[in-house]
Amino acid sequence: MTGAGRAVDEILRLREEKGLAIMAHNYQVPEVQDLADIVGDSLFLAMEGLRTGADTIVFCGVAFMAETVKVLNPEKTVVHPVPDSRCPMAGMVDTETLMALKGENPGAPVVTYVNTTAETKALSDICCTSANAVKIVRSLPDERIIFVPDQNLGSFVQRMVPEKEIVLYPGYCHVHMGISLEDVERLRREHPEAEVLVHPECTPDVVDASDHVYSTEGMIRHARDSDADEFIVLTEKELAYRLWKVTGKRAYAPDATCPNMKKITLEDVLSAVRGLEPTVEPDPELMVRARIPIQRMLDVGRGDEG
Ligand code: SF4
Repeated sequence: MTGAGRAVDEILRLREEKGLAIMAHNYQVPEVQDLADIVGDSLFLAMEGLRTGADTIVFCGVAFMAETVKVLNPEKTVVHPVPDSRCPMAGMVDTETLMALKGENPGAPVVTYVNTTAETKALSDICCTSANAVKIVRSLPDERIIFVPDQNLGSFVQRMVPEKEIVLYPGYCHVHMGISLEDVERLRREHPEAEVLVHPECTPDVVDASDHVYSTEGMIRHARDSDADEFIVLTEKELAYRLWKVTGKRAYAPDATCPNMKKITLEDVLSAVRGLEPTVEPDPELMVRARIPIQRMLDVGRGDEG
């Protein structure tokens, strides 16, 4: 048996013995996705955290996702194998700029993408995901809305909800921003039968060159239900693996890699299930404040517009 095979066996044995839940985001490397009990996008994983009977969750994704699971499940132990696996977009929000935007737009609610830290969420009125951003913005009575931090997702929402004014925060995901129109044209040439699914964190020209706009879970649902057998997924490349695994259909992605998502290896997961550390321990008062906008989002319900 290979070293990787031994690590997987040991992880699965310890998971059983300790009654752990192992969760992995859609952008984790295939070998980590393969050993997880639950794989999905950040909202799905947060919701599964609420549903799982396990007292301890080993979370394989970037830090804000593990933190969100902890915020929603403060009584559970959340272990994040590599705390340095952080989303640069979440790190783009600084309190001063956000407070200045609030000051310039008095009364405008702050809609915050879940891809943010607990500090940012605590300053927000309601959260959203790429799957429900349009639904969340439509649910608000206000005409002007501050959207934090992804400017491409905010621009997409603005186009879908023209009756409101969306004030954008200048944040972006460098992975989706790096997907170009040339990538789309090349992939279409190489796979002329494939349907093109795009994540709304991509730039507007890439969104316009695609067939359908979806969150990563939305892409998988669409592929499952579609008559098409091939898909081009304009998002982080590992989604192609996940889509194939769930639907049995072929998917092609540009070479878009999130280096932070790739920091968690099998050895890191093994070390985390052995020692049940490092744990995620946000400030308790911050957790209470950050939970409010997440709970408001969950109360509005999950949609499929994104
Ligand atoms: S893919 Fe983009 S938004 Fe997702 S964790 Fe990586 S940098 Fe952040």
